[in-house]
Amino acid sequence: MLRAVFFLPLAVLALCAPVKKPEPKAQPRPAVAGMPPPADTIARPAPRPKTIDYDTSQWLEINALDSTIAIDVRYATANNFVGEAMYDCGRCFFRPAVARALVAAHRELRAKGMGLKFFDCYRPRPVQWKLWNKVPDPRFVADPRKGSVHNRGGAADLTIVYADGRELDMGVPFDYFGPEGYHDYTGFPDSVLANRRLLRETMARHGMAHIRTEWWHYNYRPRSYRLDDWLWPCPTE
Ligand SMILES: [Zn+2]
Repeated sequence: MLRAVFFLPLAVLALCAPVKKPEPKAQPRPAVAGMPPPADTIARPAPRPKTIDYDTSQWLEINALDSTIAIDVRYATANNFVGEAMYDCGRCFFRPAVARALVAAHRELRAKGMGLKFFDCYRPRPVQWKLWNKVPDPRFVADPRKGSVHNRGGAADLTIVYADGRELDMGVPFDYFGPEGYHDYTGFPDSVLANRRLLRETMARHGMAHIRTEWWHYNYRPRSYRLDDWLWPCPTE
């Protein structure tokens, strides 16, 4: 019974997150309400791209549109559920309409002294294959042949930060697997529930729909896109 209860949320998450290992190396730590976020969640300034090295009719890089947006692409680092880097470099792309919607949401938050911070954006399908070859189990990895909204450039994993880069307390961190990460979990202080509501309502005003089981994941609702294999270039300097 315990096993079933543990795996059910993981199976649901396989649609969004790339890897759900049966025995993760480290469970994310639940945040403690009222405590400051751990040091590794402080936003680093995103380097402003120097050149446009991609097809802007297909893709827009979110921090090229607005350099005040914080980027921490976790799958370009070892600081993720897999424990190793899956991208050669961390860049954050979306389909143009999706990127514009997200910038509009960010600017709405800016007017309130806050902003958006992105953990994952468009996820190229070759990366999805890399993950699938590592863990070929549909309970834990989205099958790249079917793909996910991330593989289509229409999904974002993100949170809200204050102007100084601190993340708002969302109760549990990005990629926390379990009911505490669900939108309908109400066991947190009102301040945490209000933070999640602020994210949900801000996103909804810009066409970004939440999913029930991950407070950090949003899908662009107005339209869907084809699966894509495009890999972004990495800076050589
Ligand atoms: Zn996601």
